[in-house]
Amino acid sequence: MRFGVHVSKAGGLKRALQDAIDLGCDTIQMFAGSPRSLRQSAIDEDEAYAFLQGLTKEDIQPLVIHAPYLLNLASPKDETYEVSVRALAHEITRCQSLGADYLVFHPGNHLGSGMEAGIKRIAAAIKKACDMTELTRDNGLTLLLEMVSGAGTEVGWMFEHQRDIMGMAEGAPLGICLDTCHMFAAGHDIATREGLSETLEKVDEILGISYVSVAHCNDSVGVLGSRLDRHADIGSGMIGEEGFRVILGNSKIRALPLILETPKIRMEDDKRNLAAIRRLAKEAVIW
Ligand SMILES: [Zn+2]
Ligand SMILES: [Zn+2]
Repeated sequence: MRFGVHVSKAGGLKRALQDAIDLGCDTIQMFAGSPRSLRQSAIDEDEAYAFLQGLTKEDIQPLVIHAPYLLNLASPKDETYEVSVRALAHEITRCQSLGADYLVFHPGNHLGSGMEAGIKRIAAAIKKACDMTELTRDNGLTLLLEMVSGAGTEVGWMFEHQRDIMGMAEGAPLGICLDTCHMFAAGHDIATREGLSETLEKVDEILGISYVSVAHCNDSVGVLGSRLDRHADIGSGMIGEEGFRVILGNSKIRALPLILETPKIRMEDDKRNLAAIRRLAKEAVIW
């Protein structure tokens, strides 16, 4: 199984690589720039090359990039929308400079314009960003729509939302990123074997399981269906240790790169959560 964490790039790519090595990551996720800004500086080519060489040498893969939170591809406000489309295109370019395999982003918030309008807006935005960057299915980069918790006017907490976006943005290299906290909060009972198998059957029926490329592993502060996007340490939230044994025992989940986005102040926090998830994966009954 491949486990990793969201590492910080704040100290530079070299430092991010060293953190991933020190933590014993098999895969990593990071922001390509500042997570709270849509204006990003360029990536140094030599630095990116050394980073990629390091990842290959250490067999840390895939490399997942998470887009900034400010992106809102569903915004009914033209100005925000245009800025978001350009920011997505910029993220795609940065992913290509870094040699990233996946770019994960939250579909967006419709802000009252309705789910259908939001979905249309998102699909059009993705198509436009792909056109701007000439991104096709043959470029080695896949854009992953993350499953979100459905707080406020969020689009993308039901599998049908992702299906419709993928259908409308035909031609774009799209896939799905699961998130255990978000899915649980959105009301998918993935903490029990019965609930998880039902959820995965739905994923397969509605989206096709082969489109699922990455899973974020986070425990949930909120209860099932709370729509609360608040991540907890592995085993200490509402999914709990037993819930994670169920999740980590599933053979489809085991085949995915699993990335932690658990609360962290210092490196020890990632170490502790990585140790916990690896222990639970070992204790799990495979099914
Ligand atoms: Zn996310
Ligand atoms: Zn996530």
